[in-house]
Amino acid sequence: MENFTDQEKAILKPFFTNLDKPVFVLVNLPEVVKGALFSRYSRSPKSLRRVLLEEFIQNPEMNFKEIASMDEKTIFEKFVATKKAEEFYDRVLVGYGDDSVAELAGVHIACEDVSQLLAAKALEDNRIGISPLEKSTRYVWFDQKENGKYKYYRDPDIMESGFDNLYEESMDFLFDTYSELVPPLSEFIQSKNPKTEDVSERAYQATIRAKVCDILRQLLPSCTLTNVGLFGNGRAFEYMLNKMYVSPLAEVRQLATSIQEELDKVIPSFVKRAKTEHGKMMQEYLKNTEDAMWLFKIEGATSREDIELVDYDQDAEEKVISAILYPYSNLSMIELRKKVKEMTQDEKKKILNEYAGRRKVRQHKIGRAFENTFYTFDILAPLGAYKDLQRHRMLTQQRQLITTDYGFDIPKEILEAKLEVKYKKAMEQASLAFNKVREKMPIQAQYLVPLGFKVRWYFKLNLREVCHLTELRSSPQGHEYYRKIAQAIALKVREVHPLLAEHATKFVDFKDYSLERLEAEKKLDEKIKKLQEKYKK
Ligand SMILES: Cc1cc2nc3c(=O)[nH]c(=O)nc-3n(C[C@H](O)[C@H](O)[C@H](O)COP(=O)(O)OP(=O)(O)OC[C@H]3O[C@@H](n4cnc5c(N)ncnc54)[C@H](O)[C@@H]3O)c2cc1C
Repeated sequence: MENFTDQEKAILKPFFTNLDKPVFVLVNLPEVVKGALFSRYSRSPKSLRRVLLEEFIQNPEMNFKEIASMDEKTIFEKFVATKKAEEFYDRVLVGYGDDSVAELAGVHIACEDVSQLLAAKALEDNRIGISPLEKSTRYVWFDQKENGKYKYYRDPDIMESGFDNLYEESMDFLFDTYSELVPPLSEFIQSKNPKTEDVSERAYQATIRAKVCDILRQLLPSCTLTNVGLFGNGRAFEYMLNKMYVSPLAEVRQLATSIQEELDKVIPSFVKRAKTEHGKMMQEYLKNTEDAMWLFKIEGATSREDIELVDYDQDAEEKVISAILYPYSNLSMIELRKKVKEMTQDEKKKILNEYAGRRKVRQHKIGRAFENTFYTFDILAPLGAYKDLQRHRMLTQQRQLITTDYGFDIPKEILEAKLEVKYKKAMEQASLAFNKVREKMPIQAQYLVPLGFKVRWYFKLNLREVCHLTELRSSPQGHEYYRKIAQAIALKVREVHPLLAEHATKFVDFKDYSLERLEAEKKLDEKIKKLQEKYKK
């Protein structure tokens, strides 16, 4: 272990969680300083604490005292400190920097009142380096007004196009219908699922509310406002900004400007390229490519299949089993594939059982060898299901434009409660308005489409992600729509690769639940009780 003098220890103490162990966390340092420190560390034989001490703190050029003067807690002082850190970061980076250094600083940023299907998805469509969390449509009623207005995004292009009245009328009508249907639907769901003795009043009410929200959210249009929190690193934010700056949607471009403004206050060095010539060139490249591709627009879809397995490997078993054996062999992959090809089904089964058969719960991840075979699924399903499933990142996915062309789903509870007339009227009116706006502006018209209308997208994913997605998304507390998709994906994989699917879809739940949240709420009751007892003691 590195030895520090008492004086050195006193200097270093505020910045590390310990000074005498090889594993420690950096604290009380601005993000840019942490990034700079790591970038220097990667090229130095010294320990991290020693680098901080000798090259940053004791180097007068670095102005470290000012930079890390964390006693000065005011925002202004922090801002000044960051500016200084910025200068110093630039200095450190000359000769040492590469793109991955910008991954070393993380920021939590909140984006409030953004449209749930367009702006929120622009934020969430970043797979590596950004972790989003969005306001749920399940625990919040969307019938509240602010200053007499429902909370949905009013796109400036639509509002200036002469469609403003049509837009507001049809969106208001959706929200009015949502509000109007809350009481009768809640009553119906309660009468269909009366409270039993083993369920607390809290758990019961929360479950009913979640169910009603789940059903009525089909009426919420894509422009409904939501809140998204992101934790991400500088490199990922920079790419996200580059993409957002060239969005055809004014909301997304404006959001990019606001995000840049805020990130500039805390990690300017890591995101500045989005504003420089370098960024402009990247943005031009992205925009010109997107524009060029629209010239190849092909239309005339006739398929109405919900889920189609477009392609899969004929030799999936060989690929996966060879990869299972690879680390325990000295054969090349091609040699191993030949060996596996000659195996009997029983031999293959035995290997798979040893490799994956010890999984006791879905959280026991299946091994990496299952990443060696891929499936493409084309999906036509309600926009709400897309909204939820889009959040998976370990796969490739792309969607088509959101339209009302494929019709909308009527939840069975709406039919059973005889509320379909109002529901259909609001959906049809939204569709009429959508079609008018689409003629002039197909991209912006997406804002008008409610979550109950179907959209087409594809997933290309490996079998390990199939395992994760289908087992997670079929769990009882999930939304009925995406549970069905998860179940269908699992069934199709079982059909083509039964030997592999036996393990990779082992914990897929095929049951139907009339109250999806009930068991989860009962468990929550138990947790609350345990916590209360713990703190009483
Ligand atoms: C019942 C239910 C309710 C939900 N409610 C909400 C909600 O209210 N709000 C909300 O925002 N989301 C909600 N979600 C979505 C959820 O938070 C996840 O975003 C979504 O399920 C994707 O799951 P994932 O990250 O495990 O999968 P993937 O993105 O497909 O990733 C697969 C696995 O890879 C690993 N991984 C991927 N990326 C990272 C990373 N950056 N860091 C570390 N590990 C990573 C993890 O092990 C992950 O499980 C809900 C999901 C469910 C099932």
